[in-house]
Amino acid sequence: MNKSIASFCTYFFTASTLMMSAPVLSAFNKVDDSLLAALPSYNGTDLELAVNDKGTFFTLWSPEAQAVKVNIYDSNNAPDASRVLEMSRSENGTWRVSVPEKLYGKFYTFQVKYDGKWLKETPGVWAKAVGVNGHRAAIIDFSTTNPEGWSADKGPELKNITDAVIYEMHHRDFSVHPSSGIVNKGKFLALTEDETRSTLGDPTGIDHLKELGITHVHILPSYDYNSVDESNLPSNQYNWGYDPINYNAPEGSYSTNPMDPATRIKEMKQMVKALHDAGIGVVMDVVYNHTGANDDSNFSLTAPNYYYRHRTDGSYSDASGCGNETASDRQQMQNFIVNSVKYWADEFHIDGFRFDLMAIHDTETMNRVARELKEINPSIFVYGEGWTAGDSPLPVERRALKENVSAMPDVAVFSDDIRDAVKGHYSNAADRGFATGKPGNEETIKIGIVASTAHPQVDYTKGNNSKFAYASAPTQIINYVSCHDDLTLTDKLAKSMPGSSEEQRQRAAKLAQTIVFTSQGTPFMFAGEEIFRDKKGVHNSYKSPDSINAIDWTLKHRNAELFNYYQQLIKLRKSHPAFRMTTAEDIARNIKFDKVSEPNLVSYSILNNANGDEWKEIKIILNGSDEERMVKLPKGEWVIIASDGKIDVDGMGQSKGGNTKIAPVSAYIVARK
Ligand code: CA
Repeated sequence: MNKSIASFCTYFFTASTLMMSAPVLSAFNKVDDSLLAALPSYNGTDLELAVNDKGTFFTLWSPEAQAVKVNIYDSNNAPDASRVLEMSRSENGTWRVSVPEKLYGKFYTFQVKYDGKWLKETPGVWAKAVGVNGHRAAIIDFSTTNPEGWSADKGPELKNITDAVIYEMHHRDFSVHPSSGIVNKGKFLALTEDETRSTLGDPTGIDHLKELGITHVHILPSYDYNSVDESNLPSNQYNWGYDPINYNAPEGSYSTNPMDPATRIKEMKQMVKALHDAGIGVVMDVVYNHTGANDDSNFSLTAPNYYYRHRTDGSYSDASGCGNETASDRQQMQNFIVNSVKYWADEFHIDGFRFDLMAIHDTETMNRVARELKEINPSIFVYGEGWTAGDSPLPVERRALKENVSAMPDVAVFSDDIRDAVKGHYSNAADRGFATGKPGNEETIKIGIVASTAHPQVDYTKGNNSKFAYASAPTQIINYVSCHDDLTLTDKLAKSMPGSSEEQRQRAAKLAQTIVFTSQGTPFMFAGEEIFRDKKGVHNSYKSPDSINAIDWTLKHRNAELFNYYQQLIKLRKSHPAFRMTTAEDIARNIKFDKVSEPNLVSYSILNNANGDEWKEIKIILNGSDEERMVKLPKGEWVIIASDGKIDVDGMGQSKGGNTKIAPVSAYIVARK
């Protein structure tokens, strides 16, 4: 979600537009956040459902409930429960009941009596399998959901997050276009198909990812969300999915059969396995910061009020801009987040997590998330949006803000500094940046190059967004120029460079991404940019039709030269550790900026065989102006890696140094041993 008020969730307000203008009071009595915080918590992983040889066990955490029952259904659409089990109060706020048989094939809901009233049925907050549209939880045998070879399945090993190259994609964008050559369009299974080709013969799907060289796909929300009707998939609805219902079950519309609770689980695992087999890791976008519904959410129906923050008048506070915000600073919500990501890591072998509006969460929770995930698999990494979409009762110093990232050693944040400096402000379409000729961004580009760490030659007081070195290590920074939010890079360039040719815009795109991929920190790109995909100028396409969101794979043919540039950029980064330093000290020691006086020009060296690189010195000169610049390159035996909009990791000629012309809107990269 964007730094601006997240406009895609405005549709939640169509039924109750008052939410945007007036606070929404919780329908439940006794909202006092300090009392809620004092309720007992439970950290067991058997919550809600466990099936073993001794039977089927239900455990619901609901400390303030007056009574709880489980409704058992023979099918997802059976009108009446076949059995109703009364639960008994147990330890730490839980309620329990069990039966001696395995209830595989049945569905269930919980029902809580609170304040004298029975609340609506809910599948709970820990449903791991659900029926169509997620209204009822399903009891399935998980051992039947594992693809062949699953027990040996492993994601790529990663020493440091800076070794990752992240590719952000939506299942539907990636495969649904008629040109994709993929059979399972818009499905998890799209990423299991080998040797798919576009209608013009270019590799698509997983082959495309391998060809490009990225290390991780970051999939937009893939847990069960609300806004696509799974029972009516032919209606071709599209949604990004930032309206969670069931956090621990996959989204049904991405499966080939949402009616069968096991299918979505099986197919998501097949996707993970196919990507792992191709050497690619899977990062999941997680949205624990808010729920689509307020009083009717699964959180509210299991433990009224508890999982949310409130204002002093009892209304839902709204740091998400979507009508509510969750309370990670409360123990059971923290337990929920931590155990949920651990579940995805364990059961689905997920390799990384991207936290939406992460600053709604507290730093302590994020540290616990990172620590406990690393215990499962040291290659797992965690990053998020270090901002909120509105104010929060959580004190600023406790928020997982980018400005507080030094308090979260194993968590990374998106650098809006480099994003806006390179291409211009995200919300002002016409605004230009360094790569599109606007002067005044040079120092912020340098902040991006050193990954927002302290550097003797970088003056943070001249930074556009941040005024201090907030990162204590480059492993805490994600560099990008665009993502699913806001204009695609292609559209941003079109809107900010009126009258330009496509050739000029692609030149700017190359320079923009060269800055991202050569900067310290971890590079992140939006799917399809490598073939110059656009979204027809739609900046908030969260529910736009496929005609806006789908990637047209015939562009790969047309923009083959741009694709090749991206390939080389990624190869350059992956084959040279100098671009992947891991400490602020290394960066301060090894990066030296040159004195230049012209606007839109930044020149620097990475020295000392940085981070074990075979290259003793790499010189990177970035020219964002539309004028040729002359620089004095030190005398030496240089290999030219990039010049005038072209790039070749193996070199494209030599230079002896001296006066060197830097073409307009281009990066010049040379290296010497
Ligand atoms: Ca759903």
